[in-house]
Amino acid sequence: MAFEFINEKLAVQKSKLRYRQRFCIQHNDVNDSLQEAIIVENGKNYLNFSSNDYLGLNNHPKINQAMQEGLDRFGLCASSSSLVTGFHYAHQVLEDKICQWLNKPRCLLFTSGFAANEAIFNALGQSDHINTHLTSHSKTQFFLDKLSHASMIDGAFASKAKVKRFGHNNMTQLEQLLLQSKADNKLIASEGVFSMDGDQAKLTELEKLAEIYNTWLYLDDAHSIGIIGDQGQGSVSLLRGNKQPNIIMATLGKAIATSGAFVACDEALHDYLINFARHYIYSTAISPAIAWATIKSIELIKQEQWRRDKILELSERLKDGLNDNIEMVSSSSSIHAIIVGDEQKSLEANEQLKKQGIWLTAIRPPTVAAGTSRLRVTVCANHNINNIKHLAQCLNKALK
Ligand SMILES: *Cc1c(COP(=O)(O)O)cnc(C)c1O
Repeated sequence: MAFEFINEKLAVQKSKLRYRQRFCIQHNDVNDSLQEAIIVENGKNYLNFSSNDYLGLNNHPKINQAMQEGLDRFGLCASSSSLVTGFHYAHQVLEDKICQWLNKPRCLLFTSGFAANEAIFNALGQSDHINTHLTSHSKTQFFLDKLSHASMIDGAFASKAKVKRFGHNNMTQLEQLLLQSKADNKLIASEGVFSMDGDQAKLTELEKLAEIYNTWLYLDDAHSIGIIGDQGQGSVSLLRGNKQPNIIMATLGKAIATSGAFVACDEALHDYLINFARHYIYSTAISPAIAWATIKSIELIKQEQWRRDKILELSERLKDGLNDNIEMVSSSSSIHAIIVGDEQKSLEANEQLKKQGIWLTAIRPPTVAAGTSRLRVTVCANHNINNIKHLAQCLNKALK
């Protein structure tokens, strides 16, 4: 029988407790439920601690209003690829807005962060095509942090470039790999804030290594954009005054609370991506109405510092509320990882918390290494102090 592996692989997942299913989330009233971070499953309310709506901006009336305005002016659909007739005024204004915000010369919009990452690694990994017969070594090499997002890993390995991975935030190992490399074009890639633990990249050191070894630096800022910096500019704000990463990628689907992604870079790379990034060229542009709504979202993010302050304050309260035996990874983002270790134990804790009306995610292999299963909590600007107290009490009970 053809494709027999489908059922075999599913059976293996089930036997390893790694089988995943989706839950259809309901909302009693979308307005109330988002404001109070509540989700409903089978008629029961849960406090949502696994959302990526870090700043609580989803369903914000001003963003919704901008969306409606965008619909009226540009329509919902871009109706073609950006290179044909899909590049609208709303896209242009959003790109300019992001350039100003991050102080980068150019910006390019993608339909998702996953597509943007794949596209860039693919496009940058192409240089081996030219004059390969002249050299024996690989002309392009990517250096990825071990904990980089699946889309960076897939993009890098699917490209023609050689890929090396360094231990998470292990600068010594990275430097060794850079020293050994004979590639003409080197690129270090890292997340600004890491998805699973919420810890930060060692930005200053990455930048220093990039400078010494004549290497580009690529930052996936999915979890930092909107959260870090006094106007939410993300990782670039941590390097103020220093040399900036060559490329910043961030999704619009997390703190920015719309959909799509952007890449901020210099003029030449921008031009190159428009000409060679296949995910850009052969894909319908993001909705111009969503682009218009995103402009409003970024304005709110720049103005409303209280959202960032609240995440920090509530995170601090969570840390204070947890018993000493509970290990929480230190983080200045919304993401807080509570290390449980055993897969079974993390699932049990997850179940117990669910009974107490708390919805959070148990992160298990293969997403993280075996024996490092964890509970991932996201603290968002639409949580309140009572939510956090309740969470801490329930975690203390579940992880006794
Ligand atoms: C979510 C995420 C992405 C993917 O972004 P989407 O817009 O959701 O496709 C890429 N990189 C990282 C680090 C992410 O967390």
